[in-house]
Amino acid sequence: MRVRSLAIGLLVGGLALTACGKEGTPAGDSGVGEGPSTTAEVATDVKIEGSPTFDRMTQNDKVVIGVKEDQPGLGYKDPTTGEYSGFDIEIAKLIAAKLGFEESKIEFKTVQSAGREAAITNGDVDYYVGTYTINDKRKAQISFAGPYFVAGQDLLVRKDDTSITGKDTLKGKKVCSVTGSTPIQKVRDEALTEPENIVEFQGYSQCVDKLLTKEVDAVTTDDAILKGYAAQDPDALKVIGKPFSEEPYGVGLAHDDKALRDAINDILEKAKDDGTWQDLYDSTLGKSGSKSEAPDVDRY
Ligand code: GLU
Repeated sequence: MRVRSLAIGLLVGGLALTACGKEGTPAGDSGVGEGPSTTAEVATDVKIEGSPTFDRMTQNDKVVIGVKEDQPGLGYKDPTTGEYSGFDIEIAKLIAAKLGFEESKIEFKTVQSAGREAAITNGDVDYYVGTYTINDKRKAQISFAGPYFVAGQDLLVRKDDTSITGKDTLKGKKVCSVTGSTPIQKVRDEALTEPENIVEFQGYSQCVDKLLTKEVDAVTTDDAILKGYAAQDPDALKVIGKPFSEEPYGVGLAHDDKALRDAINDILEKAKDDGTWQDLYDSTLGKSGSKSEAPDVDRY
C-alpha cells in the first residue's frame, strides 16, 4: 500500500503542483452520457490528519463513491460495459485522484436519492457525488463539500404537449419525481398538483419511461438531469426551461469529517481556478450546449 505521509497543509500544496498535470482526453462528441473525458494525475503521499473517512479509505486501499447510474451526462452506468460516465463521475474521479487513489482503486456504488444520507452515515460510501442538493435538513445528518455546480428545478414533458408551460400549469396533471428528492418536496410544499396526481419512483429514468407511455404528464427535477433525458430522445421530449429553484450540488460526506470536507473543498477550488472544472464540464454536461461556470465553494 502506498505510504501517505504529508500533512494536510502539504496536501493543498501538492494539489497546486499536481492538478496542472492532467491530460485532456475528450471522448467522442456524440452527445451527453458518453465519456470518460479527462484523467487527473494521481497525487502521491497524501495524508489528511483527523479524517476517519480517509483513514478507512487508506486502510482498505480503495475508495467507495456513491453515485447515480441512470442520469445521462451526470451519473450514468453503461448497461453493456458497466462503465460509469458523466460530470458527477468526473468530479468523483478527480477527488479520488487528488486524494491519492487511482481509477482502479475506485468502487462506484449506485445509491438512489432516498438512500444517500443512510449510505453516508452507515459508512457504505466514503463520499457521494450525485446531483445532491446542499440543504440544512441534510446538513443535520451529513456534511457537504462544494458546491461544485448549481442546477434549478424544471419540467420535462412530451414534445407535443403545449398545455404545460411552467410550474403553475401543473394542476390536474400527473407529475412524477423521486422519493427523498428536493423537487418532490417542492411539488408537495407548493401544492403544484393535487396529492393524488403525484407519482413517485426511486429513480428519474422510471419517471421518464412513464412520461413516454403517457402514464404521467411531466417529470420534475433539476434541469441538468432533465436535459440529459431530453438529449437522449429529442423527438419525443422537451425541457420547459424555466427553472424555479436553486439546487447547489455538494459532495456528501460524514457529518463529523471536517478534515475531509476541507480537503475536498481545496480540490474543488483548485479545479475551478486552474480550468480543470471547465474541462470536465465541457466534455460531459456541456456537450448539450448549455454553458456553465464553477461556483465558489462554501466554507460553512
Ligand atoms: N438535486 C435534487 C436533490 O438532491 C434532485 C436530484 C436528485 O434527486 O438527486 O434532491
